[in-house]
Amino acid sequence: MAASDVIVIGGGVVGLALADAWLARHPGSAVTVLDKEPHLAAHASGRNSGVLHAGFYYAPDSLKAQLTRRGNQMLRAFCDERGVDVRDTGKVVVTTSAEQLPRLDDLYARGIANGVPLEMIDEAGLRELEPLARTHGRALWSPSTAVADPAAVVHALADRVAERGGQVLLGMPAVAAGPGWVRTPTETFNTGHIINAAGLYADTVAHWFGVGEDYRMLPFKGLYWYSSWPAGRLQRHVYPVPDPRNPFLGVHLTVTVHGRAKVGPTAIPSLWREDYGGLGGFNARESAQIAGLYPRFARSPHHDVPGLVRTELPKYSRRYLVNQAAALVPSVRPQDFRERGRPGVRAQLLHVPTGKLEMDFVVRGGERSTHVLNAVSPAWTSSLAMAEWIVARI
Ligand SMILES: Cc1cc2nc3c(=O)[nH]c(=O)nc-3n(C[C@H](O)[C@H](O)[C@H](O)COP(=O)(O)OP(=O)(O)OC[C@H]3O[C@@H](n4cnc5c(N)ncnc54)[C@H](O)[C@@H]3O)c2cc1C
Repeated sequence: MAASDVIVIGGGVVGLALADAWLARHPGSAVTVLDKEPHLAAHASGRNSGVLHAGFYYAPDSLKAQLTRRGNQMLRAFCDERGVDVRDTGKVVVTTSAEQLPRLDDLYARGIANGVPLEMIDEAGLRELEPLARTHGRALWSPSTAVADPAAVVHALADRVAERGGQVLLGMPAVAAGPGWVRTPTETFNTGHIINAAGLYADTVAHWFGVGEDYRMLPFKGLYWYSSWPAGRLQRHVYPVPDPRNPFLGVHLTVTVHGRAKVGPTAIPSLWREDYGGLGGFNARESAQIAGLYPRFARSPHHDVPGLVRTELPKYSRRYLVNQAAALVPSVRPQDFRERGRPGVRAQLLHVPTGKLEMDFVVRGGERSTHVLNAVSPAWTSSLAMAEWIVARI
């Protein structure tokens, strides 16, 4: 039987950040990260937009507010230390009608309350920052939003974990676990503490410990389309004012670290957890479970679920999706956005009794275990700060 002081289940950015933070705080301890995939960044951490969020969307008393601003600074410093490129795009939030201005004001007030650098600008100011974008009257300018290659960050973090003495074992799924032990198909590990950072399967792992039994993962698929525009034509990320009833940010345009513009991601209800397109990996049992959650979710007073389904499902159509983005940047045309991006699936946690999608990060303690249950966006940005916060509390 193998032994490790700490075992982390899940080697995405959150699991690796937790291993890294543990080793920084407890040098010399034995830390093992298990990931079921044969290569790093196979799921959300390698399939996201790579936007280093600033932290202005979130309620001031939330973990997201606290950890995103610090996470942005920590991730920038990490990229600097490890030679991972960061592109300082900044971001503008634009309105598509004058009715959205009060919501833009709310967003501005939140950002200021969260201590995030943020500026309210007029149409002329927007033209100067991003000549391709349009707004009605005013827009927000976030100078600390940026972009990096998300998979490059994951690889660099895995390297730092190894340099600090941790081991990252790939192709090693945890198939069962309880206080003090984890079983994989080939080995059983004894351990002092288990950290569950299993992303789309974090609820399943938590349930092994009797933790978070009111929660189930409700996956939402994010599709992207790349433009054929020359690099640098779009300079800033361009976002709409989000609908506060849903945890997603609406159709937006981002710029990659290499300067390419892309539209997306969507938040289309997924049929199973690793539903990346086609029927590859189709899981009938998961689909049945997920379908079983929808009647409760659809009656939820907390969200506009029929509206969400009505607006998201048509986004399977590239033309429809790209035309939505044209409301923010009028020169966007479907014929220029034909290259499909690598889709990602959001591991969104549903509180089953209330039908509520959890908006904030959810972290729960169990017997000799810690469970990261809702590592939704912007957890890639927040990962290093989240890990520091969690490790200080274990
Ligand atoms: C489309 C999309 C766009 C996004 N855009 C952004 C963005 O621009 N900026 C931002 O900050 N955030 C963004 N996010 C959010 C961000 O990607 C996630 O918050 C973050 O990657 C979560 O990291 P994770 O380590 O929890 O998850 P993951 O990367 O999914 O890692 C979990 C790991 O657990 C492993 N695993 C699962 N079960 C087991 C098991 N039983 N045994 C062993 N291993 C297991 C999986 O193989 C996986 O590697 C986006 C997310 C999506 C889906």
